[in-house]
Amino acid sequence: MTKKLTILFSFLFVLNGIAQDNYLGDGPHSQLIIRGVTLINGDGSPPRGPMDIIVENNKIVNMQIVGYDGVPIDESKRPKLKAGGKELDANGMYLLPGFIDMHTHVGGEAQGANSEYVFKLWMAHGITTIREVGGRGLDWSMDMKKKSNSHKIVAPRIFTNTFFGQGSKKPISTPEMAREWVRQNAKGGADGIKFFGAEPKIMTAAIDENKKLGLRSTAHHAQLSVARWNVLHSARAGMTSMEHWYGLPEALFNDRTVQHYPLDYNYQNEQHRFEQAGRLWKQAAKPYSEHWNNVMNELLELDFTLDPTFNIYEASRDLQRARRAEWHEDYTLPSLWKFYEPSKISHGSYWHYWGTEQEVEWKNNYKLWMTFINEYKNRGGRVTVGTDSGFIYQLYGFAYPRELELLREAGFHPLEVIRAATLNGAEALGWDDKIGSVQIGKLADFVIVEENPLMNLKVLYGTGAIKLTEDNEVVRVGGVKYTIKDGVIYDAKRLLADVKAMVDKEKAKTNWELKQPGIKN
Ligand SMILES: [Zn+2]
Repeated sequence: MTKKLTILFSFLFVLNGIAQDNYLGDGPHSQLIIRGVTLINGDGSPPRGPMDIIVENNKIVNMQIVGYDGVPIDESKRPKLKAGGKELDANGMYLLPGFIDMHTHVGGEAQGANSEYVFKLWMAHGITTIREVGGRGLDWSMDMKKKSNSHKIVAPRIFTNTFFGQGSKKPISTPEMAREWVRQNAKGGADGIKFFGAEPKIMTAAIDENKKLGLRSTAHHAQLSVARWNVLHSARAGMTSMEHWYGLPEALFNDRTVQHYPLDYNYQNEQHRFEQAGRLWKQAAKPYSEHWNNVMNELLELDFTLDPTFNIYEASRDLQRARRAEWHEDYTLPSLWKFYEPSKISHGSYWHYWGTEQEVEWKNNYKLWMTFINEYKNRGGRVTVGTDSGFIYQLYGFAYPRELELLREAGFHPLEVIRAATLNGAEALGWDDKIGSVQIGKLADFVIVEENPLMNLKVLYGTGAIKLTEDNEVVRVGGVKYTIKDGVIYDAKRLLADVKAMVDKEKAKTNWELKQPGIKN
């Protein structure tokens, strides 16, 4: 008996050792004082500091200005640490609300990425909240959510949006079945639904039922259903947000009702699918034309959230950039690299023959798309930050600063970029009374970085930004220093080191080295 138990325990210990590094951060603390930061809040206000931020358990209780730019701080006037409290010296650093990634998939078998790898990459990039938009199923997601909430794993806070119909024994073919599935989804604890499109009467019933239950929903308006159900139909039916951009050009058609498909097009051929998608925005109404304005204004009136996920299509306009991103060598798993390589089977690996013509079409596609997104923001619309990583050479975590850079490219001021990443996400989740900005009474979710990210968003990449010193020495600056979630402090660089160790271990197993597609020796 004793011997059996010993064996069992050592087995569990080994399993645990494989599954998870035992670093679980520092906290929560009865009191936490973060000293001397410049606050870049998510509400659009300009940077302000030095400031001491005081957290008790997991609530922000005070934010106190302690001096003036460039003037030594009068220590006697700073808030005092209580017995048992924790002080975090962040003098001269920048503090932002925890980042929200509105479009994530923890990763499936195809990617061969386990949840610890994915979660740590996110947390290392300051992502304290994610909206899962479908993946391994509701039960799995709820289990992760519980573990994350109780700090048993290193992971962001999870909002679960189940794929519509996932887990149903039969394909959903009637409005009644749709309503029943929606009720079960809510009962199971989901926060909402992610649609790809369905028959209009099924979409109507499902969105209606979901809305009655007070849940939120979003859609990737897949090409298969978009001729009869585009973004406007969704917004009118009560959907609360949309992903990517599909379904938006279709709502903007003036002189056609379907995309100009070549006659030998096959949706199952992803080069066809993505190549033709790159020609879609130019088939829509021109920016600032009457139809374009009307569609935009109606979406604004319906308080519809746009989650563009610019980064996930970036390889379409510059394959080499995405493929050669410097972090792949150290942080991309061999299985992911395999998944990314050109393939007729893997989703998002549509590089049958991807060249200059395809990239130029996509560059022009982006200009029209970005014009819509930026103007939507200017008219008061809510735009959020989502990454959709794990496909198309976009790596978990690293994709997030890239998405911020692309919003900047679209015309957002860096403060508007940060607001999209924080408060806008919180609003879209219905959690803006708890997260999304640094305010008294909100939860203690923060990103702390040594450099000013407004001046260069690249300092938010785990690999940092390149800089030349006064002495002509090349250095790296930035990379998130601390990610704080629910009052627990995580050393972001330690999390990244854990990820690299996981990748090194996988490489060692098979003597694997990263090679570019088609290179044989
Ligand atoms: Zn996705």
